[in-house]
Amino acid sequence: MNFISTRGHAQKVTAAQAIARGLAPDGGLFVPETIPQLSKEDIAALCKMSYPERAAKILSLYLSDYTEEELLADCRAAYAETSFIGGAAPLVSLDDTLNVLELWHGPTAAFKDMALQIMPRLLSRALKKIGEQRTALILVATSGDTGKAALEGYKDLPQIKIIAFYPVDGVSKVQKLQMATQLGENVSVCAIRGNFDDAQTGVKKIFGNAEIAKQLNEKGYFLSSANSINWGRLAPQIVYYVSAYCDLINAGKRKPGEPFNVCVPTGNFGNIFAAYLAKRMGLPIGKLICASNSNNILTDFLTTGVYDRNRSFYLTMSPSMDILISSNLERLLWATTGTEKTAGYMKQLNETGKYAVDAGTLAAIQKDFVGYFANEEATANTILKFWKEDRYLADPHTAVALSAAQAYIRESGDRIPMVVDSTASPYKFANNVFRSIAKKEPSGDLEALDELTELTGVKIPYPLADLKKRAVRFKEVCEPNEMPDRVLQFVK
Ligand SMILES: *Cc1c(COP(=O)(O)O)cnc(C)c1O
Repeated sequence: MNFISTRGHAQKVTAAQAIARGLAPDGGLFVPETIPQLSKEDIAALCKMSYPERAAKILSLYLSDYTEEELLADCRAAYAETSFIGGAAPLVSLDDTLNVLELWHGPTAAFKDMALQIMPRLLSRALKKIGEQRTALILVATSGDTGKAALEGYKDLPQIKIIAFYPVDGVSKVQKLQMATQLGENVSVCAIRGNFDDAQTGVKKIFGNAEIAKQLNEKGYFLSSANSINWGRLAPQIVYYVSAYCDLINAGKRKPGEPFNVCVPTGNFGNIFAAYLAKRMGLPIGKLICASNSNNILTDFLTTGVYDRNRSFYLTMSPSMDILISSNLERLLWATTGTEKTAGYMKQLNETGKYAVDAGTLAAIQKDFVGYFANEEATANTILKFWKEDRYLADPHTAVALSAAQAYIRESGDRIPMVVDSTASPYKFANNVFRSIAKKEPSGDLEALDELTELTGVKIPYPLADLKKRAVRFKEVCEPNEMPDRVLQFVK
C-alpha cells in the first residue's frame, strides 16, 4: 500500500514515510492510493477478536510495510487493559436506537488517546524502517487535550523527544495540571504568555526556521509533529467503527450486513473521516451525522456546499470543536472529487478563506453526510436531559453529538441503531457538566470534580482521580519569542 497527496503533486510514499513526514511536500495530506475492502467473512472474523487484535488487523490493511507481529505487539501495548481500564472502546446502549461509543477510557480521559497511544509506537518503528538515525523532536502547540495525550503517548519512547507549549490562561485548570504533572524522561512542557494562536504561531515559526533546523541537525535531531493531519493518527480511528459494529452484532442488535448510523462530534474532521473510510471499506454505515457546536461552519458546508471561514469565532464549553479550519475535510474533497479540484479548493481557501464545491460534489457528499449543530443552551439542556432520563453522564462534546443524533432521528424518522461517539470523560469538563445539571456554580474548576461525583455517584476516571496528589514537574512560563531558545535548551 502506498500513499499519495490529496493535491496530486508529490511522489508516492510508504506508510512509514507518510507517518514520519506528516504532511506531503506539496502541502496536501497523505491518503491511501486505494481503499482496502472488508468482506463479510473478514467482519465475521473480526467479531471474534479482542480490540487489540481488531486494531492490528485493520491497520495491517493500510500499513503493509509493518509486519503483523509488529502491529499486534504495538496494539497490545497501546490498548492494554492497564491503561484502558474497562476496555478500549466500550459501546453503551441507551435504548433501541442510541448507543454511545466511549472513546475516553485511556490514560488522559479524552478520545485523542485512541490514536496517540498507538501512533508514537508506529513512528518509532517508522524511523528504523526509513533508516533515520536522528532523534525525532515532536513540537506541539495545544489548547488542551492534544498536548496531554501526545505527551502521554510519546513518553519514554526511544529516539523521540517531545515538548508541548500551551497558553498559560487558555486551558482549564484540569488540563493545566494534567500537563504540569506529566511523567517521562523525554518530555518537556512550557506555558506561553499569550493565547493559543501565539503558541501555534510560535511552533510554526520554529518549523519554518532553517537556522534552528541546522542547529538541531548538528545535535542529531529533526523536528516532527503530532498533528491530527498525520495519517498515523487517522488510521487507528477507523478501527473503533468496525469494532462498534462487531459489538452491535455480538449483542444481537444487528444481523451481519444490516446497516447502522454514526454520529460524531466534529472539529478537525479527522474522527468522522475515519468513519467515512470505514464505510468505503465496506462497513454497512448508513448516514454519517456531523455534529458541531456554535462554530457551525461544517453544518453550513454540508447544507450549502459553501465553506466560508470569514465568520465570528465562539468560545464554547466544547473547546475541542472550536475550530474554523477543519483540515481533514481536504481528505473528503479528495475522496469525492480527486486531486485537481481539491488543490483548487484549497488554493481558494488559502487566498480568500472560502470556496464553494460544485453541485455534483455536494450531492455526492450529501449522500453520506448530514450536518447538525447544538448551541450552548442546547448542549447544556442535553447534558441535563440524558442525566435525568437515562442516568447517562455526558461531557459537552458528547452532548453536542447526542443533540445532533436526536435531531436527525426526529427529522428523518430513521430509527436504525446509531453509534454516537463520546469523545471525553465528563470529568474532563466537570465544571460545565456540574453547572448544566445542578443549575448552580461549582466552588471551583478542580473542586467541580468532587462535587460532580457527589451529585451523580459516577466515578472519576483514574487519570483524573489522583490529579491533585501528583507532583508538579513543569512550572515554567515563557514569552512567545523565547520558544526557540526553550527548544534548543531542551536538546542540550
Ligand atoms: C479533538 C476532539 C474532538 C474533535 O475531533 P476531530 O477529529 O478534530 O473532528 C471532539 N471532542 C473532543 C473531546 C476532542 O478532544
